[in-house]
Amino acid sequence: MVFEFSLKTSRSNEFINITGKVKEAIMKSGIDDGICVVFVPHTTAGVTVNENADPDVVKDMLMELSKIVPEDKEYRHFEGNSSAHIKASLMGNSQTFIVENGELKVGIWQGIYFTEFDGPRNRKFFVKVM
Ligand code: ZN
Repeated sequence: MVFEFSLKTSRSNEFINITGKVKEAIMKSGIDDGICVVFVPHTTAGVTVNENADPDVVKDMLMELSKIVPEDKEYRHFEGNSSAHIKASLMGNSQTFIVENGELKVGIWQGIYFTEFDGPRNRKFFVKVM
């Protein structure tokens, strides 16, 4: 079974903590020990893992990503959103996690983030637990 979650982003560039949704999928799966895959089916959004305690970490990441991949370069892509495509690939579109004793096995300071780079939009992501 694949769990599908919908979310509505509210900014052009934004990190949304989805750790709780991933934990919900693990719980509903009933699987105690295995692997959990989080997959984002978009080309201008991704998923990454980073600090969940200080929100300034996410702000700093967004600030530096916008410097590494500026929006106003001479890109060829007709849609005009090449920076969003590039940032999405830098983050990646899936993450794999360990499930142990029915729990998501991550570090205490780690959060799972859906990373929006071409919002605001209606988005979704999939979670598969095996
Ligand atoms: Zn595009």
